[in-house]
Amino acid sequence: MEKAEKIWLNGKLVDWDEAKVHVLTHALHYATAVFDSIRCYKTPRGPALFRLKDHLQRLHNSAKIYTMKIPYSVEELCQATKELVRVNNFSECYVRPIAYYGYREMGVNPLANPVEVAIISWRWGAYLGEEGLENGIRCKISSWMRPDSRMLPPLAKASANYGNSVLAKLEALQCGYDEAIQLNSQGYVCEGTGENIFIVKEGVLFTPPTEAGALEGITQNSVITMAQDMGMTVIRKNISREELFLADEAFLTGTAAEITPIREVDERVIGRGVKGEITAALQARFFDICRGKDEKYLHWLEFV
Ligand code: PMP
Repeated sequence: MEKAEKIWLNGKLVDWDEAKVHVLTHALHYATAVFDSIRCYKTPRGPALFRLKDHLQRLHNSAKIYTMKIPYSVEELCQATKELVRVNNFSECYVRPIAYYGYREMGVNPLANPVEVAIISWRWGAYLGEEGLENGIRCKISSWMRPDSRMLPPLAKASANYGNSVLAKLEALQCGYDEAIQLNSQGYVCEGTGENIFIVKEGVLFTPPTEAGALEGITQNSVITMAQDMGMTVIRKNISREELFLADEAFLTGTAAEITPIREVDERVIGRGVKGEITAALQARFFDICRGKDEKYLHWLEFV
């Protein structure tokens, strides 16, 4: 990873190498952290953060689920993020805000520990590779089920959920695939390890409903809005594994993964095994929006 100049830590900009935590940090032991991820894109009007406020509101919502009190408002975090991108002089970057219980008392109860907040930014290219964005990736249906809200709250973007994601990702990579697709406890398609999923069948887009137990993705929401705007029908319904196998097109969405086509799932070629036409159209529109080339969606951009 390439270092940036500064990291925002508890209200101050500190040098990259100085942003350290104690080994007794509660979150390191008990995964008591919530985080989010945001991309900043180069536009003709300078760097712009995509749906910044929505991401920081989700960070606050994740904390609320865990009754964690973030000592900075959404607005204060927005200003801090913009300031960080400015001082680091980025034209494009990825941003990771994280709130976590720090160091004071050990034991599962986190409440005696201070809530610390950091915002980190760094350069990060295509998460699933440029080749993946262009030609699609190969996915494996994971043997690791996505936890449902009786086990861990899927609507919180909490570090605790990523133990499950890490196991699924490792399994997929160790079996020679690029990414895992996880089913929920009902056996329906839920999400990738860090992405939501869409399929296309006879021109209609399908993505799982909230009840399927995936994170409510901001990219997923953006794709739904864009697709409807482009005259497409989008249906939120449970998707079975075999519906995914038989889809004409499939793709993953996420801040890191952007819109990444899926070309194969468990040895079944999806559609023609290339980026589908609808996927390509949505991907092109999405990148135009992110790069400030679409007047209609300028309100999704927060200029730095
Ligand atoms: N699901 C999971 C498990 C994720 O980690 C992410 C990435 N934040 C997503 C879905 C996609 O969400 P978003 O589009 O808001 O980045």
